[in-house]
Amino acid sequence: MESTGASTYGFQAEVKQLLHLMVHSLYSDREIFLRELISNASDANDKLRFEALGKPELMADGGELRIDVDIDKEQRSITVSDNGIGMSRDEVVEHLGTIAHSGTARFLERMSGDQRKDSQLIGQFGVGFYSSFIVADSVEVLTRRAGTAPEEGARWTSDGQGEFSVEPCTKADRGTTVRIRLKQDADEFLDPYRIRGLIRKYSDHIAFPVTMRQEGGEAEGRETVNRAKALWTRPRNEIEHDEYVEFYKHISHDFTEPLAWTHNKVEGKREYTCLLYLPGAAPFDLWNREAPKGVKLYVQRVFITDGATQFLPLYLRFVRGVVDASDLPLNVSREVLQQDPNVAAIKSALTKRVLDMLDRLAKDEPEKYRTFWREFGAVLKEGLAEDPANRERIAELMRFSTTRSAGDEQDRSLDDYLRDAGTDQDVIYYLQSDSLGAARSSPHLEIFDDRGVEVLLMTDRLDEWVMQFLDKYRDKPFRDVARGEIDPKKLGGEQPVETEANKEDRNLLKRVKRVLREQVDEVRFSERLRESAACLVIGEDDIGYQMRELLKAAGQEAPRTVPSLELNARHPLIERMRREGDDTRFELLSRLILDQATLSEGRQLEDPAAFVKRLNSLLVELGAPPES
Ligand code: ADP
Repeated sequence: MESTGASTYGFQAEVKQLLHLMVHSLYSDREIFLRELISNASDANDKLRFEALGKPELMADGGELRIDVDIDKEQRSITVSDNGIGMSRDEVVEHLGTIAHSGTARFLERMSGDQRKDSQLIGQFGVGFYSSFIVADSVEVLTRRAGTAPEEGARWTSDGQGEFSVEPCTKADRGTTVRIRLKQDADEFLDPYRIRGLIRKYSDHIAFPVTMRQEGGEAEGRETVNRAKALWTRPRNEIEHDEYVEFYKHISHDFTEPLAWTHNKVEGKREYTCLLYLPGAAPFDLWNREAPKGVKLYVQRVFITDGATQFLPLYLRFVRGVVDASDLPLNVSREVLQQDPNVAAIKSALTKRVLDMLDRLAKDEPEKYRTFWREFGAVLKEGLAEDPANRERIAELMRFSTTRSAGDEQDRSLDDYLRDAGTDQDVIYYLQSDSLGAARSSPHLEIFDDRGVEVLLMTDRLDEWVMQFLDKYRDKPFRDVARGEIDPKKLGGEQPVETEANKEDRNLLKRVKRVLREQVDEVRFSERLRESAACLVIGEDDIGYQMRELLKAAGQEAPRTVPSLELNARHPLIERMRREGDDTRFELLSRLILDQATLSEGRQLEDPAAFVKRLNSLLVELGAPPES
C-alpha cells in the first residue's frame, strides 16, 4: 500500500464487541461521551506538559494548553480539540483500534445481555474514546504529535461498524481534534446551552480551560466554560459532593460512584495534597497483577505519572486518587520515587488516612462499608502480611461469615465476636474451607454448635496464608478448629460424663489404624463430633489444604500432611464396627469411614471409583427388598 494513501484496518475483535455493547447498553447515559473526550483531551495536555519539562521546545508554538469545544449545526457535528501531546500515525492505529487493557476478552464474556447490568459493567470497564459512537454516525480524528512537522499529521475516520481508515494529513497545530457527526436522534447535542451545562456538570474540575464560542451579541471571541482549576487545590469546604464524584470518574474511568473520599492538604515539613477515593466496585482486573494501580502523581500541579505505586502499599491497591507533592523534583523518576525518604513518609501517612477513612465508613455508614468489604475485603486482608505495623487496625476492619451470620455475607467483626463470646472464652475459633456451604456442614463444628460457641468461617483463597500473620486479636489467640485436639471443658456448657476408653475400644482404634496405616497418623476417639461418625484433623503446624493448593499453583510441592482420624464413639456405625468379626468387612468399613470423613469436609477423594465400589458392595449385601 502507498505510504501516502489511506489504509483501512479492522478493529480488534474486542473493540467490535465493546462498540456493539456500548451503543446498546449506554444509550440512556449517552451524554457521557463528552466527558470521556474532554477527559482524554485533558490527559493529552497533561502528558505534553510533562514531556515539555525536559524538552521545552515541544510547547514553543501552539499557545497555552486548553481544550476547545465547537458545535456546527449545519454539519451536525460537535468537535473537541486539545493542543496536547497528539498522536503519531502508528499511535493512532494502535490506540484507536485496539483496547490496551489485558483481560478484556474475559471481561466481555461476563456480559449478560441484560441492559442494566451490562451498562454497570461497561461503566466499570471505562468506555473512553469509543463512547463517541453512541451518538455518532461517524467520527473523524485529526492529530499531530507535538514536536513533529505539520505534514506529519494523521486523519483517522470510522463509522464504528468494524473498520477504520488512517491517512496522512497536514495539521497546522499540534494536538488532537475529534469531530463527531451526530446521529439523527442526537440533536440535543447541537444546543450550545446543553453542551455548556454538560461541561460544567462533568468537566468543571478539569485543570485546563474548556472553551466555547461566545453566544449572542456581537462578541466573536471564546469564553472559558469550566472553572479550570485543579479540584484538589481548592479548599475542602468549597467543593460540592457532586464535584468530588465527577472528579473521581475522571481520574478512575469508573462510572460507579465512589463510596468515600479523603482530601487533605498537609503543610509543614513535607508539603503535599492528597485526594484519595474508595471505589464502589472492584475493577474487573483487580486480581490481574499487571493491571494499572497506584495514584496520579503531580508535582506542584504538573502531572507526572498515572501509576505511582510508591505512595500506597499493595494491599490498598484499590484506592484511586491524586497526590500532589511540593517537595519532589519535577524530573522525578521511578528510581527517585523508590528511594526518596519523602515518598516513604508520605506513603505511611496516606496508609493511615485510608485506614481512618475505612474506620469512619464502618462506623458511620455500615451499608457502604459492607459494599466495600464485599468488593475489596479479600485484598485488604493481604495487609496482615504486608503491613505488620497496622495489623491490629486491619484486623479490626475485617468482616467474617460465622456460624452466627444471618446470610452468606461476611458481616461479623472480631469485636462483635468477642463481645458475644463473653469473658470466659479465651480463644477465637475459626474454620477454613473451600466454600461456605462446605464450612457450614463441616463435622468440625458439631461440638461448637452444641455448646453455642461461635466459629469464624473462612473461605477466601488466601485465608490460611494471611492467618499465619494474625496470631492474636485484643490478646486472644486464634485457633483453627480442624487442627489438634479440642478440650471440651474450655467450651463451657454441660460436660458429658467421660468414661475411660475400655479395652475393647482401644482394640477398635488399633484395628482401624492397622487398615489405614498409610493414610492416617493417629486414630482416636473424638471430642468434636455429635452427629457425624468421623472426621479428619491435622496437626497445629501442618500445612493446610488451602496452602497446599497455593503452593501447587506456584509450582511448588508441599510436604505431605498426614491427618489423624477421629471417631465418634457414640455413633451406631462405630458401634457396629466394634462388633464386626469379619476382617474383610471391617477393612471395608474402615475405608468407608475415611472416605466419608474426607467428603464431609467438602474435599475430593483421591480415588472416587474405589469409593463407589466399596459402597456398592455393601448395598448389594442389603439383599433384595422384602416382598410386599
Ligand atoms: P483510555 O483513555 O482509557 O486509555 P481511550 O479509548 O479513551 O482509553 O483512549 C485510548 C488511547 O488513545 C489513550 O490511552 C490515548 O493514548 C489515546 N488518545 C485518546 N484521546 C487522545 C487525545 N485527545 N490525545 C492524545 N491521545 C489520545
